[in-house]
Amino acid sequence: MSDDAFFPEGTLVAVLTCEPLDRTLDYKAPEGGVFRGAFVEVPLGPRKVLGCVWGAGIGGFDLSKARSISSVLDLAPMRDEMHLFLEKVAAYTLTPMPAMLRLATRAPGLMNPPGMRKVFRRGTGLPPRETEARKRVLDTLDEYGGLSFTLKELADTAGVTASVVKGLIPSGAVIEEDTPRDLPFRRLDATAEGKELTDAQSEAARALREAVAAERYSTTLLKGVTGSGKTEVYLEAVAECLAHGRQALVLLPEIALTAEFLTRFEARFGARPAEWHSGVTMTERRRVWKMVGTGGAQVVIGARSALYLPFQNLGLIVVDEEHDQSYKQEDGVHYNARDMAVLRASLCSAAVVLASATPSLETWANVEVGKYRRLDLESRYGPAVMPDMHALDMRDERLPATQFISEALANAVRKRIGLGEQSLLFLNRRGYAPVTICRACGFQIGCDHCDARMVEHRFLKRLVCHQCGETKPMPKACPSCGVEGRLAPVGPGVERLAEEVKERFPEAKVAVLSSDLFASARALKEQIRLIAEGDTEIIIGTQLVAKGHNFPNLTLVGVIDADLGLQGSDLRAAERTFQLMRQVAGRAGRSEKKGVALLQTYQPEHPVIRAILSGDEEGFWRAEAAERKMAGVPPYGRMAGIVLSGPDLAVVSDVANQLARVAGPLQRIGAQLFGPAPAPIARVRGRHRIRLLVKAEKTASIQAALADWTRQVKLPNNVRLQIDIDPQSFW
Ligand SMILES: [Zn+2]
Ligand SMILES: [Zn+2]
Repeated sequence: MSDDAFFPEGTLVAVLTCEPLDRTLDYKAPEGGVFRGAFVEVPLGPRKVLGCVWGAGIGGFDLSKARSISSVLDLAPMRDEMHLFLEKVAAYTLTPMPAMLRLATRAPGLMNPPGMRKVFRRGTGLPPRETEARKRVLDTLDEYGGLSFTLKELADTAGVTASVVKGLIPSGAVIEEDTPRDLPFRRLDATAEGKELTDAQSEAARALREAVAAERYSTTLLKGVTGSGKTEVYLEAVAECLAHGRQALVLLPEIALTAEFLTRFEARFGARPAEWHSGVTMTERRRVWKMVGTGGAQVVIGARSALYLPFQNLGLIVVDEEHDQSYKQEDGVHYNARDMAVLRASLCSAAVVLASATPSLETWANVEVGKYRRLDLESRYGPAVMPDMHALDMRDERLPATQFISEALANAVRKRIGLGEQSLLFLNRRGYAPVTICRACGFQIGCDHCDARMVEHRFLKRLVCHQCGETKPMPKACPSCGVEGRLAPVGPGVERLAEEVKERFPEAKVAVLSSDLFASARALKEQIRLIAEGDTEIIIGTQLVAKGHNFPNLTLVGVIDADLGLQGSDLRAAERTFQLMRQVAGRAGRSEKKGVALLQTYQPEHPVIRAILSGDEEGFWRAEAAERKMAGVPPYGRMAGIVLSGPDLAVVSDVANQLARVAGPLQRIGAQLFGPAPAPIARVRGRHRIRLLVKAEKTASIQAALADWTRQVKLPNNVRLQIDIDPQSFW
């Protein structure tokens, strides 16, 4: 931090707070002065709030009216690179700075003094009178040589009451002392040997180690089919990073994945990393936040928001499954964690590893133009290979409307049961049936608050809106015509598929994997473990099963509806279907036995289906890239989605039309404006939604134009305007 970033007592400094204001606030530096980046407590009206010293004060008012910073908090100051990172993300995503600071301080109790707790350890004194219980306490302490215990830990381990432990303090046999509640994480062993690597893996690992050792910004795509051992390879990069005394961040898309990952990590480095995701307790979050800032956490495994942790010396960011949609945050601050990881690394001279079997087109395109480096892990870890893939043409099947498994697929499943192997039936749809229709009048049951049909969930015995979460019991009579007993499910969800499987394979052991069927992440992990051990014969699953779980006895994957993702007007429909089908197919045959994937489709001649079957990945990407280039859409053009929403449709429409009339700032950068039009889901949670879409050349400065454009229209109180740069979905 440079010298000019110090503000002596009484000078005016600008403080950024998390309050929804459009500016920083001026305060006087406290006694002893303050550095830029310091976290402080400042008075705001009657309250005291958390803030960060952002720079010199702006002034322009009577200095004697300025209030002083209440206190400088005992937290590692924000580093310049973090300051810059937050400003750049704000500028890119058009997010107000207070919202950025909120993202960067998402841990409870940062304003509280560091919590302390009492711990107990062995002293040199001897108890005046030796009893059996006292001896057990001292033996326990000796056994753990030098380790401190909390009172409860020590009493429980020794099998005595707390008063026995306390009775040993006066003689000095046991010492009681205070230690900070937020303790550093166990040190990781960077020198331990990893798993033995294949030649291809060693080569990739060496390249990644070199990238980390350079201590310069770089981004590498680590591309490898499922089971090629990408994790082992990037853990080598983590080891290199630790050896250089720098911190590493590994982003993972799905919490369910972390248990398996943590076990592997611990085996490799001798201790667990810090974790940062929604399943972590508030106390632990605060500990991680503080330890990351002081170097007491060397590696963090986390969800996308871990990017905003105050790393002290970040040397490596791994984005595992970089194509995953969950990296795109779609409420609050709209950002793509993959892209922001690259930005963050470029500001702190860190290496980025983007790992995927099915990279996003964005990443593929960045490799093509030489921005990212590419490493391929083609051969699979161990003897297994990608499965044979075939289409099952459903037009030849003539299945009854209540049946979804073709005869050919059923036969393949039967064969696997006979061989003692597992089959996976994949359907990316939760619940029992996506539509409930009245056979008397044709009415479809929709959500009262959204423009969406309600999905029947028999397991929950309710209808559920997948947009807003609203549920209601299944009515007996049609809500429209009142006729009873004519409501019928249309189309399959995994629960209905499970019903068909139980009818057709009454003897088989079946497991259904769908996120809504499990009360907790722990229950889901347990089910996954049981399946991996091989007892289940037929697994029925949603998208959840496409992600990383290793089922060694699985040799058949049946995709119930390969066409599902191809419907709709989404820019990325083809890309996503291609990725998902390859990931799901990749679940088959991960150990010695070669697998088979069968895709049920009504359009086997569709280019995406053909590309999936042929396995010509590069061909698919080239064709997809050419199409997007022609259309001038991302990654070859810029796009921004604008959604206006509010309870009154007329008011929302009016704002949208006003905006459309003042599109001068957009025209000046040559951007095109589409809309206003009702959003594909025109009402969510009772709010009407109107969409505008802005498309511009790749080089256009779209953010500045968007800001100038939207600034011209004053929003009524209940109308919300959301801007999504590089939108991932178009709902
Ligand atoms: Zn009806
Ligand atoms: Zn709803």
